[in-house]
Amino acid sequence: MVRSLANSHAHFARAVQRLPLGVASNFRYWGDERTIYVKSGRGGRITDIDDNTYVDYRLGYGPAILGYADARVDEAARQGMEMGGVFALSTEMELQVAERISRMVPAAELVRFSNSGTEAVMAALRLARAYTGKDNYVLLEGSYHGLFDAAMWHVPMHAWSQVGEPEVTPYSEGIPVSSRSLAHFVQANDANGLEAVLKKHAGTIACLLIEPIMGNCLGIAAEPDYLRAARALCDKYGVLMIIDEVKTGFRVARGGVQQLYDVHADICTFAKAVANGYPISVLAGREDIMRKLGRGVAHGGTYTAHPVSLAAADRTLQILEETDALERIAAYGTQLREGMSAVLGARGIAHSFVGHPSMSGLYFAEKPPRTYRDWKTSDYSFYNEMAQHLHNEGVLCEPDSREPWFVCAAHDADCLGDTLRGFETAVDATVAAGAARRKLSA
Ligand code: PMP
Repeated sequence: MVRSLANSHAHFARAVQRLPLGVASNFRYWGDERTIYVKSGRGGRITDIDDNTYVDYRLGYGPAILGYADARVDEAARQGMEMGGVFALSTEMELQVAERISRMVPAAELVRFSNSGTEAVMAALRLARAYTGKDNYVLLEGSYHGLFDAAMWHVPMHAWSQVGEPEVTPYSEGIPVSSRSLAHFVQANDANGLEAVLKKHAGTIACLLIEPIMGNCLGIAAEPDYLRAARALCDKYGVLMIIDEVKTGFRVARGGVQQLYDVHADICTFAKAVANGYPISVLAGREDIMRKLGRGVAHGGTYTAHPVSLAAADRTLQILEETDALERIAAYGTQLREGMSAVLGARGIAHSFVGHPSMSGLYFAEKPPRTYRDWKTSDYSFYNEMAQHLHNEGVLCEPDSREPWFVCAAHDADCLGDTLRGFETAVDATVAAGAARRKLSA
C-alpha cells in the first residue's frame, strides 16, 4: 500500500519557511518527503492530515500510556483548568499527587514537580552535585537524558569502527568543550568497568545517571546482578545513584523500573506516562537529599505544577495504580512480540526482543544486546528500511531502530490484527527490496 502524503508535503513546504526543518523538535523531521503532520489521536491510533490512520507505537515517545484522548484524564484536566491558571503559588493538589507517587515508588520519599524530562534530570544532576559537593558524573554509552549540556556528551555508535574505544563527542554544536571532562562513560552491564571509573576518579564523582531499561537504546536492559552491583558500588564510593525513569516510570510496573528490579534510587526522575501526555515531570528521592531544595539548591519555574497537568497526573496515576491497565499493556506487548516473532521466524530472519513488553526493542540478531556496542553489530539497516514499509502499511514505529515500540492500554485486538498484517507485508517488502538490490549489483 502506498500512502498519499500530499497534504503533509504541501504543509511541509509552507512550514519550513517559518519553522526550522518545518517542525517544533528536530526528532519530528523525517526528511522532506517523509515528515508527516498529525490531525488527531484517539486510543492507540493517530490520523495524519492526509487521513492516513496508523496504529501508533511511538505514543509521543511514551506519554500516552492510556491511549490518546482518554476521557477520564481529559475530564480531570478540564477540572484543573477551572482553577484559573498558574499563580506562582502552590495548590493543594501538589500534595495529593506527591503522596500518590510516594505510595507507588518507595524511593520517592519527597517530591518536586517540573515540566519536562529534561528539566527533571537537569535538577537531579544539580541536586546530586550539591549534595556530594562533586562535579563529575557517570553516564552509560547509549543513554539519553534530555537536551541539556551535561547530558549531551554521547558516544555516536553508528560512527564507531568496532576497533578500539568509541569516541565521545557532543550531541550538538554549542556544547561547551570545557564541560567534556566532567562526563565519564561506562558500558551497560559492566560492573568492573564502572568500578574502574569510580576508582580512577575517586572523590570527584557526584552520581551515576542510569536508565536500567534504556528507553532510547532499544530498551537494552540491565541484568539484575549488574544493577545490584552498580547500587553497591555507588554506596561503596559515595556516589549517588540517579535512576532516570522518564520512560520506564509508571509503565514497566506501578513502581517503575525500581519495582521491577527491587532497587532503590537516591534520586529518581519521571515524566512521560505520569499524566498521559499533559506536560509534567517529577524529581523525587531520599529525604535528606531532597531537603536541600530551598536550602542551598535552587529549583522552580513559572509553569511548574500547573493545575491542568497535576489534575491529569492524579487521574492517570490513580488509573494506573487501581486498575489492571499495566497488566493489559504488558500482555499486549507480549502478544505483539509473539506475532512478530512468528512472521520473522517463518522467514528465517534472526531476531530478538529487548526491554520490557510495554516498551520493546526489536533487534535483528539472535541474542538480545547487552550493550550499545552490540547494536552496532546487528542488521539495523533491515529495520530502518522496514520502518518505511510499516508506515505505508499504517503501523507507526520510530524510523530509528533504537527507539522501542511503546504500548498503551488502548491498543486492542483490532490494533494487534492490523499491526501483524502490516508487519508481514513490510517484512516481505524489505526482503524483496534487498533481493532486488543484490540482483542488480550481481
Ligand atoms: N530522560 C529520558 C530517559 C528520556 O527518554 C527523555 C526523553 N525522551 C528525557 C530524559 C527528556 O525528556 P523530555 O523530552 O521531556 O525533556
